Amino acid sequence: MHQTHDIQILPAPVIRLIEELNRLPGVGPKTASRLTFFLLRAPDDLPLALAHALTALKQQVQLCSRCYFITQGDLCAICANPARDQRVICVVEEPLDVVAIERTGVYRGLYHVLHGRIAPLEGMNREDIYFDELLDRVRAEPVEEVIIATNPNLEGEATAFHLQRALAPLGVRVTRLARGLPTGGDLEWADPGTLGSALEGRREM
Ligand SMILES: [Zn+2]
Repeated sequence: MHQTHDIQILPAPVIRLIEELNRLPGVGPKTASRLTFFLLRAPDDLPLALAHALTALKQQVQLCSRCYFITQGDLCAICANPARDQRVICVVEEPLDVVAIERTGVYRGLYHVLHGRIAPLEGMNREDIYFDELLDRVRAEPVEEVIIATNPNLEGEATAFHLQRALAPLGVRVTRLARGLPTGGDLEWADPGTLGSALEGRREM
């Protein structure tokens, strides 16, 4: 963080923006300062456009009431599309995983976004993610298959295991992405070809 002499000589709004930017993932104090001074020198329309975009982000974007992907309305673009296969739900950890799977072009079903994974050591348990909401959907909707597409790392595998155990009594087919994705990695960084093959080669759990 900043040393005391910085705090004393810089105007308060400058300090404030540096500190706010510093809270973002991957933005250290140096980058936060550089971005702040860039915005200070930039033409008025850039900082204002940024401020408006940030306000709209929180005011106009919410979670889909069905699958918890992000949306501007009640239902997301995928849930609202009657052409999507209503019998298949692909379970992912984060909204960006939906974007990654859509990019493969091979999936036509629905999604369910957990918004996290089970990681007891980090205090993330079943009730901290949209886990039971998935079970409710499987009971209420004409679902025949649930594809578990949690990340290919320790927490993702543990989450997949818990999901499989909870889904088994509900009489749906439970499948997992085929091996072949880089282990320890995140789904969102997988290349579309590899991810598409992992989807098509999914196996019964
Ligand atoms: Zn949705």
